[in-house]
Order: sequence, then structure tokens, then C-alpha cells
Amino acid sequence: MWRASSGTAAVLGLRPTPMDAAPTTAYLMLGERCLRNCAFCAQARESRADDAALSRVLWPPFPREEVATAIAAAAREGRIRRACFQVTVGREHIAETEEAVALLAAASDVPICASVAPRDLADVARLLEAGAERVTISLDAATEAVYRRTKGGRWARGCALLEEAAAAFPGRIGTHLIVGLGETEQEAIARISGLLAMGVRVALFAFTPVRGTPLAGAPPPPLAAYRRVQAALWLLARGLASAEAFRYRDDGARVTFGLPEAVLGDLLAGGDAFRTSGCPDCNRPYYNERPGGVMYNYHRPLTPSEAEAEVTALLCGLEKRRS
Ligand code: SF4
Repeated sequence: MWRASSGTAAVLGLRPTPMDAAPTTAYLMLGERCLRNCAFCAQARESRADDAALSRVLWPPFPREEVATAIAAAAREGRIRRACFQVTVGREHIAETEEAVALLAAASDVPICASVAPRDLADVARLLEAGAERVTISLDAATEAVYRRTKGGRWARGCALLEEAAAAFPGRIGTHLIVGLGETEQEAIARISGLLAMGVRVALFAFTPVRGTPLAGAPPPPLAAYRRVQAALWLLARGLASAEAFRYRDDGARVTFGLPEAVLGDLLAGGDAFRTSGCPDCNRPYYNERPGGVMYNYHRPLTPSEAEAEVTALLCGLEKRRS
């Protein structure tokens, strides 16, 4: 069986569910309770969250051949433009992911991601050879201190593997970063800048407290801070700004971008900086948001009035004396 996010199940026609927003990527989950114990994750070893949950989303199981066939049809019809396996760590998780990727690649030419914890470069190579277009190795934490506090495990090895993989497989390696785990804006943006320089594609997530996890009572990041980190990623990834020109308050908060306000406003005017980041065509509707609540990652293009409001709010929140 493969688990599909409830939105994915709806868009694939596996389970009729009213949908406020359709995913453009089919999100699938492989594996049982994770052997790792990340403090923010519903699937962590000691989490007491619902077994079928990951972040805010529920993932009902379906026979894998049925899912692969449905993805192939949805991709042909343009309803789905990517498929993503999100994989918990288990004894055989790389072999199981390899098999799943190969099965889906045989059924469809939809681009496939594997968001997984490889042990080494050979694991990454296996997944790419099986048919994955990309492999995402989630760092999640922006700093070693945050990593140790929330994930445990080996920070240096994770960073080194990302760097090795990005060098060995250019354009095919990504990572997830969670904003709001206790890092400063300066630390988050420095990490983003370093990852981009390595050629790693960065997907930003807003920390989302999940019931049954140790961080259930922690707050999500302030929206204004998240917007500034989104803007930094968007500008840096396109070469429109330089991290060396960014300035911060003494506490590492409130980045200013080293650009005149009018120029920054023009660059951000379309609002695309505030859309879901990561792999092409990944929109993750309501992964971090409640319908009608704060929209950390817009899963669709912003309307002109939304874009204007977001850019105005961002510009108003900048430290004027340093802009
Ligand atoms: S960015 Fe989206 S498609 Fe890519 S690995 Fe992450 S969740 Fe999957």
C-alpha cells in the first residue's frame, strides 16, 4: 500500500473529498513510524500523533498499483505534474523507495521526487537510477544547534551528504528547511544562501505545531519574519540580490535586503516570492495552513490585491534606517 495525502487522493479520484485547493503534485508517503525522532514530526518514533498524519495532512492508504495507474492518468490529463514520495526511515527504506520509484516510473513519465534520508551517495544514485528526477535530503534545521535540539543525529554528515550529492548530481538535489524552530532570520538566510551556492534547491516550510509531538505547544513563526525569509530565498535563488548586502538587527532579526525600497517593491510585485517553494509544480496546499487561516505558502498565484498587500506589509516591516 502507498499512502496518499487526502488532497492527492481526491485529485486522483481515489477518494471523493471536497477540495478547497487541488495539489499539482501527487504526494505519497512510504513507510511506517519513523526510526528517527524529530520533535516536530507526526511520524517520529515517539510521536503520539495520528499514524496517518504528516504535518496538518492525513494520508489514507491505497493499493500501490491503483495509485500508480491513477497518477499516470492524471499526468496525461495535466491534473498532476509531479509525484513526490515522502519516506520515513525504516530498516529497508531505501530499497522500498527504489522499488516504489521504479514502479511509478514504469507507469508514467511524470517527474518523481524522493524525499528521503539516504545513508550515502550510493543511496542517492540508486534512487536517481530507479527513475527519480530529484532526491530531496531534508536538513529541516538551519543551524547545528537547532538540528541537535529538534532532530538529534549527525548534522555534519547531513550537510556533507547534501554538498556531495549536489556536486555529483547537479540540478537534481533539494532540501527542506523549516522556519520557526528557534533559528534567527540571519541564520535561516545564511543557510539558504549556502545551500543555493552548493546548487541545492530549497523548499521552505513554516513550523507547524502538531498535536502529539513534543513541539505541539510551540508557536508557528511570525508571518512577517517568514515573509522576509521567503523574499530572501526568492531573490537569492534568482540572483537578484546578494546575501553579502543583507543587514540584520543585532539579534539577527529583521533582514533588510540592501536594495532601495522602490527596487525591492518592483522585484517582489508579482507576489511569486510568497508562493510554495521547492521542486517545480510543488504547491503543497494547506500543508502549513488552515483553510481561511494565515497563508504561509500560497499554493497558487496571488491575486493582484493579495500581492500588493503582501509587498506593502513586507516593505512597511523593514528597518528603515538600514534600507
Ligand atoms: S519540494 Fe515538494 S515535491 Fe519536492 S521533495 Fe519537497 S514536498 Fe516533494
